[in-house]
Amino acid sequence: MRYKLIVFLALLSNGICNTPPESLKLLLEGNERYVGDKLLHPNRSLERREEIASKQKPFATIVGCSDSRVAPEIIFDQGLGDLFVVRVAGNVVGPVELDSIEYSVKYLGSSLVLVLGHESCGAITAVMEGETADIEDVADLIKPAIKGAKTVEEAIKANVRAVVAGLKKTSILKGFISKKKVECIGAYYNLDTGHVEIL
Ligand SMILES: [Zn+2]
Repeated sequence: MRYKLIVFLALLSNGICNTPPESLKLLLEGNERYVGDKLLHPNRSLERREEIASKQKPFATIVGCSDSRVAPEIIFDQGLGDLFVVRVAGNVVGPVELDSIEYSVKYLGSSLVLVLGHESCGAITAVMEGETADIEDVADLIKPAIKGAKTVEEAIKANVRAVVAGLKKTSILKGFISKKKVECIGAYYNLDTGHVEIL
């Protein structure tokens, strides 16, 4: 019995069975380390690789932009098996992206879906400037979300909020959120400071 309790506690400390606030705390602590140049580079060892080879349990799902400067594992100082990541220009969510997000929540036990926009996002800037010929499908998802935005930053944050609102209405996420097993939130990454601001 005591052994079982110890195993259970060990699982908890490995980031399994996290509550949404616990998952958010892990992300924010990692970002703080990144901002302060105090990276721990956790979970990148041979042991970690072997430990998760047969089963993954990412504690959070990041819906981010493809931008090369906004790599989730780096800016949140996480390692192998920690984050389930969906990246596409403008961090938009269409049917294909939604399938991946729902999979991570329903089958992998991810307790936090974080939609991450970032400063100077090229996709949002292109839509603001009406130069969408090369990114039509992405632009179609961004346009309704940023109506009325006056600056690129406003538009980036409006887009994040719209993606979050859309995700919260989907049947699978809605069910988990209503049971408080999952939370879906938006955030904004500052390219200069490295800081992630929760919206
Ligand atoms: Zn971007």
